[in-house]
Amino acid sequence: MRLKREITVWVVLFSLLGIFGGCYEQSLEGFEEQISVVDVAPWPDGEVYYCFEGFDVNNEDDRYSIISVKRAMQEWSSSARISFIEKPEAGDYVVRIIKSDKTASTLGYVKNARMYLTTCASQRQATHELGHVLGLTHEHQRVDRDLYITVHWNNIQPEAVSQYQLLENTLYDEESYPYDYRSVMHYSQSAGGINVMTPTYTINDPNFNEKWPTYLSKGDRDKVIEIYGAIAQ
Ligand SMILES: [Zn+2]
Repeated sequence: MRLKREITVWVVLFSLLGIFGGCYEQSLEGFEEQISVVDVAPWPDGEVYYCFEGFDVNNEDDRYSIISVKRAMQEWSSSARISFIEKPEAGDYVVRIIKSDKTASTLGYVKNARMYLTTCASQRQATHELGHVLGLTHEHQRVDRDLYITVHWNNIQPEAVSQYQLLENTLYDEESYPYDYRSVMHYSQSAGGINVMTPTYTINDPNFNEKWPTYLSKGDRDKVIEIYGAIAQ
């Protein structure tokens, strides 16, 4: 039997190739058997306010990140009733998109919402981080994932272990969706690995052999439709 526990303070989910670190205190003892329940709030009326911090529009690499973010916003907002509204400055419920040497985000509608991106960030990275901002958690952390992937704990950096723990997201009924290897919220097989030549997990389905897409999967879109509603036709 798995032990469930509530997390009341959940700050930052780290991303694909970002720097991993502990933004919250937790015991790793018996972590393979634990399920953390995360209470996530959606953005009211699907309206997400944001501002950029530290990116220089005159710097080509920074501009690349800004374009990635704008394209990622377009991807999400064309999938469900979501709108991203730029603000000239930070406020209580304004996502600060901060230039950083790490890639990470807060989860859902929270005060002091933040999204960290590097210069020259890819569209997939921006789409993944915005997924967290909208309230989505990692596909490879859903509670039934052991049926679909086999995690190789001995090849995961200690700092990245928390990014492979099982999570139950209260915002949507994850297990009602087919497991989605193609999700933009799924890590690649090298993310957080000690030895990058060895995978951090293997896919249980021997017939799945696709490259990771840069665009949203059907499952990604269906989840934000469940949370925010479909776009009126
Ligand atoms: Zn992530």
